Amino acid sequence: MKIRDILAEGKPTLSFEVFPPKTQDAFASVERAAEEIAKLDPAFMSVTYGAGGGTSDYTVKIASELQKTCGVTPLAHLTCVSSTREKVHRVLEELKAHKIENILALRGDIPQDGNTPKVYHYASELIREIREAGDFCIGAACYPEGHVESANKTVDMDYLKEKVEAGCDFVTTQMFFDNSILYSYLYRIREKGITVPVIAGIMPITNVKQVKRSIQMSGCYMPARFMSLVDKFGDDPAAMKQAGIAYATDQIIDLIANGIRGIHVYTMNKPDVAAKIRENLSDIIK
Ligand code: FAD
Repeated sequence: MKIRDILAEGKPTLSFEVFPPKTQDAFASVERAAEEIAKLDPAFMSVTYGAGGGTSDYTVKIASELQKTCGVTPLAHLTCVSSTREKVHRVLEELKAHKIENILALRGDIPQDGNTPKVYHYASELIREIREAGDFCIGAACYPEGHVESANKTVDMDYLKEKVEAGCDFVTTQMFFDNSILYSYLYRIREKGITVPVIAGIMPITNVKQVKRSIQMSGCYMPARFMSLVDKFGDDPAAMKQAGIAYATDQIIDLIANGIRGIHVYTMNKPDVAAKIRENLSDIIK
């Protein structure tokens, strides 16, 4: 099913993300985790894609398994910055062959090896090509706090508009830990004339290492309310996990209460975390 049709039903949706392994050795354990998460009856599941292309075969394989074996709608990520046009089109053909209808079209991070992008420079170029290549439902990334490379949020939003005009059906946000940031972002993007559904990306932080990594990756703001949990529980892994899941649950409940419908949880291949969040929301997202 196309995700735009799922979102058009107008009900709150809960979806989860998994990332493929880098090596064949780890494939079975990731597959098992994906299957466990799939049992939680998500609206859809996304499968990330290595920007360098290293995990690209696994992305299609896991997305296909989710669809065929678990009956869950998959969203296959696809990055372009380190890719050739031939590679992109090969993956698109594989997705078609596996009847995978949803793609999250991304630029990917610029590689640190000094090589500058040659074929694709921005996600909008990929979105245009996917649109022409077939009847896909296309999503893109957006950044409530601005993308780390952007000079400012206004410019970042101009480029978001370009992505939407290139043909994307919905956008998913980068993680954020202060809902008021999302509310003011939504106000600004609607004012800009961007009307596609916005799915809120929520990262449950379950250990201290993740705090630093999340800030480095996304540049996101960690509110004092969240940092006090880290100060208090950071040295106790079980308590930190419980507090992180509670914080993410609280964020989601507030989002739903304020009219946000699409919630995407960055579950980091952890079925127990996904299950706890699902359970916490059982009467809120049915
Ligand atoms: P773009 O939309 O192309 O934007 C990149 C930068 O260029 C921004 O600063 C933007 O403002 C600017 N820009 C855009 N268009 C133009 C233009 N025409 N002229 C000048 N500047 C422009 N990474 C992975 O490797 N694999 C994944 O599976 C993955 N999944 C993700 C899922 C989500 C929901 C999110 C939020 C991010 C994900 N990422 C993933 C990370 C993403 O690849 C990086 O954030 C990357 O740096 C930007 O990708 P993008 O598609 O947002 O790029």
